[in-house]
Parts: sequence; structure tokens; C-alpha cells
Amino acid sequence: MNNNYHKVLSVRELTESTFVLGIERKNMVFEPGQHILLGKAEDIHHREYSIYSGVDDEMLEVLVKEVDDGLVSKKLKKLAPGDEVEIQGPLGFFTIDEEFLSNNNPFLFIASGTGISPFHSMVRSIKGLNYTVLHGVRYNEETYEKKDYDAERYISCISRDEIGNFHGRVTDYIRQHTFDPKTHCYLCGNFEMIRDAMDLLEAKGIPQDHLHAEVYF
Ligand SMILES: Cc1cc2nc3c(=O)[nH]c(=O)nc-3n(C[C@H](O)[C@H](O)[C@H](O)COP(=O)(O)OP(=O)(O)OC[C@H]3O[C@@H](n4cnc5c(N)ncnc54)[C@H](O)[C@@H]3O)c2cc1C
Repeated sequence: MNNNYHKVLSVRELTESTFVLGIERKNMVFEPGQHILLGKAEDIHHREYSIYSGVDDEMLEVLVKEVDDGLVSKKLKKLAPGDEVEIQGPLGFFTIDEEFLSNNNPFLFIASGTGISPFHSMVRSIKGLNYTVLHGVRYNEETYEKKDYDAERYISCISRDEIGNFHGRVTDYIRQHTFDPKTHCYLCGNFEMIRDAMDLLEAKGIPQDHLHAEVYF
């Protein structure tokens, strides 16, 4: 029996292409913000997925978007409870340093699409976190499980539907707002968004060592 094999326990469909996979945890210990390498059991192809669930949750969860012509995400989309996946990890350093958590420090979590996943884990795991989530998506249906964040701390930036908290991209939102220079900014998602948002935040007075990023693609 391969100890890295874990059973799929649940599949929660959020949109036609995006779903939350619930996986047997087997006592895996992780820090919120870390990711795993995941693939179908007996398949040589694996990809990184941030852990979506909290540190005290029984199951391990990942939030996955099926990418057009994507090799691994397409296979994960076909999984059903009872199937097996192979996991390695936890991996990565996109985590919050203990020292940043003192003095009710503000945190700004900036995500595009499924890049919200590590922030879901952080919010679920760390009690009393003084956070704001800026979530950039194209359509309203992609504001995945926004009920899990405090309503006044979650800001959707929706570029194509004219609803949500802000109509436009996260970079447009940043351009139009000011930020406390003590804020620690965590950015996760596609490279262009992260690069442009970091440049804007620096220009707005956030020191470089307060900018932390995880690039998905
Ligand atoms: C540290 C880390 C954590 C990640 N966490 C997550 C996560 O929590 N959820 C998640 O869905 N993905 C996550 N990813 C992306 C994931 O690892 C895969 O790249 C993605 O699922 C596509 O894999 P694939 O084999 O299906 O596509 P591939 O066959 O590898 O690639 C197909 C194409 O899709 C592009 N692509 C990759 N991701 C996306 C996307 N989201 N939207 C549009 N195009 C994309 C690639 O650049 C490539 O051009 C993470 C990546 C990293 C590096």
C-alpha cells in the first residue's frame, strides 16, 4: 500500500469548471498557505495545489479550476468519492510569520481566481486575523464560497459582470485606494496580476519586505 495515496471523500462543484476536492487527511500537518503536489493515483503527472481547508479541519481540501487542455486538472475534475489520489507535501513558504501577527497588524490578501485558496485556509485557521481579501474574478459566480469570509472584509473585484463590491480589476481597485504602510500584503494567482499589483503597492508606500507572493502560472 502506498502511504502517499489518499481517498477522495467529497467533490463540491462551485461552477461548471471549479470544484473543491475533499481528501482523506491522514494526520498531515501543514501551515496555512502551504500547498501539496497532487495527481491521480498511479499517474506520473502531478501539479501544485494550495491547501484550501483549515489546520483544524478533518479533511484536506483543495480548490481546483479545470484548465482548458490542462493535463492534470482535467483528470482531477473526473474524480469521485472513493477514488484515490497521490499527495506529496505539505510544501512551500507562502505562510504568515508569527511575528507579523502581533499588534493587530493589517493583512491584505490579493487573489486572482483560485488564488483565493491559501487565504481561505489562513482565514479559517488563524483566529482574530485583521484581514481584507481583494478577490479578482471575471464573473460573479467565481467569488468562490465568499460566505466563508467576514462580509465587511471580503471585496470582490469583478471585471466582466457589473455587480460585486467593485467593478474592475484588483489593480484598478489598488490604484483608487490608499493603504496603511504597516500592511502585510500577500498576493496569489497569475503572474501579471501579481507583478502589476506589487508595483502599485510599492508606489503607494508599502515596503518591499511587506510584499509576499505565490505565482500559480
Ligand atoms: C504553488 C502553486 C499552487 C497552486 N495552487 C492551485 C490551486 O489551489 N488551484 C488551482 O486550480 N491551481 C493551482 N495551481 C496551478 C496548478 O498547479 C496547475 O498549473 C493547473 O491546475 C493547470 O494544470 P494542468 O496540468 O491542468 O494544465 P497544464 O497542462 O500544466 O497547462 C495548461 C496551461 O494552463 C495554464 N494555467 C495553469 N493554471 C491556470 C489557471 N488557473 N487558469 C488559466 N490557465 C492556467 C498554464 O500556464 C498552461 O499554459 C498552483 C500552482 C502553483 C505553482
